[in-house]
Amino acid sequence: MPHLDPPRHGFATRAIHHGYDPLDHHGALVPPVHLSATFAFPDTDYGMRCFSGEQAGYVYTRIANPTLALLEARLAALEGGAAAVVFGSGMGAITATLWTLLAPGDEVLVDTTLYGCTFAFLHHGIARFGVRVTHVDMTDAANVARAIGPATKLVYFESPANPNMRLVDIAAVAAAAHARGVPVAVDNTYCSPYLQQPLVLGADIALHSATKYLGGHGDLTAGAAVFRDAEVAQRVRMQGLKDMTGAVLSPQDAYLVLRGLKTLALRMQRHCDNAQALAELIEAHPAAAVVHYPGLRSFSRYELARRQMRLPGGMIAFELKGGFEAGRRFMDALRLVTRAVSLGDAESLAQHPASMTHSTYTAEQRRAHGIGDGLVRVSAGLEDTDDLMADIAQALDAAVRPQRVAAVAAAGR
Ligand SMILES: *Cc1c(COP(=O)(O)O)cnc(C)c1O
Repeated sequence: MPHLDPPRHGFATRAIHHGYDPLDHHGALVPPVHLSATFAFPDTDYGMRCFSGEQAGYVYTRIANPTLALLEARLAALEGGAAAVVFGSGMGAITATLWTLLAPGDEVLVDTTLYGCTFAFLHHGIARFGVRVTHVDMTDAANVARAIGPATKLVYFESPANPNMRLVDIAAVAAAAHARGVPVAVDNTYCSPYLQQPLVLGADIALHSATKYLGGHGDLTAGAAVFRDAEVAQRVRMQGLKDMTGAVLSPQDAYLVLRGLKTLALRMQRHCDNAQALAELIEAHPAAAVVHYPGLRSFSRYELARRQMRLPGGMIAFELKGGFEAGRRFMDALRLVTRAVSLGDAESLAQHPASMTHSTYTAEQRRAHGIGDGLVRVSAGLEDTDDLMADIAQALDAAVRPQRVAAVAAAGR
């Protein structure tokens, strides 16, 4: 497939230049933002041909817009896809894609751990319309091969998974699914195409919350779906986006994502450097029971991470020995790292999945899906490494301190 050929330019060059020539736009170095909701037809016949699909042309921004089209072309180039569609949020991308590909009676196979709102959409949303949602432990591709039945229309997972950093072997699961003719969608939000390219590894659809690393500055919500097959992209655009969700990205926000992409490679390198330093610090601290970070030798899928990710990523999850209460003390002691959900921003962020992003799960579901009550998730930002290490170290000290005080008091009695 020609679009999967090795690209002529490197990643950063494509992220800055792909799909735009200033000389086509009065020499403007920065792409113009097309704020128009609608587009004029030179005559009735042209308008008719646009509506019938004979004529490629802009009609209305909910279907297509030149600023959005540039972002789509650039994301497709970065992921190695044939076409991309952008949306007003990551959930817009996920829901529009699933609404398009699934119908009553169909089954979707999903991994055991999923982003909280994806989990909610599947169980409280699309399941009500007769789609069967089946969880499978996808850390072993053989489980996927076994679970696929005649009604299975899609295999869906995240790698690394939000929030506990489980890794799925994308090439192995894609091979197992394709052997039965089932397409594979991967939520690639945690990596961005700089760290991992699911389509190049064999998947059919890569999904993104562009709110996170792609935008990179915490000042917008956006989503994207990148497709191996341009015909599937067109179906998702004309059904899932245009008619079923209307989850349209604003051209202003598309411009901000394009701006963010210019520094994506640089930012990802710094996110990964900071996360590696923090993960090593946390692992060496007595407060931590276990640290899940693909760059640690102790990580369960260390070899897989090295094979399928360029670098180990900017996200860390860890369990504190003292469970929920230690997690609360750690969170409340942070001074520089911000207590907030989301990820991929310049600011380092910490959150507690059991009470925050994954509170859409019941406590039993969280246990079953590997999300402990003491699990803390950190998104390593772009600040100076030493400043972040000092803040995390003092918060880890605070997480264990009350027990020490109690132990000393008890010993003195
Ligand atoms: C944030 C996130 C989403 C949802 O994206 P929004 O832009 O918030 O709608 C989906 N998947 C993952 C892994 C996420 O982190």
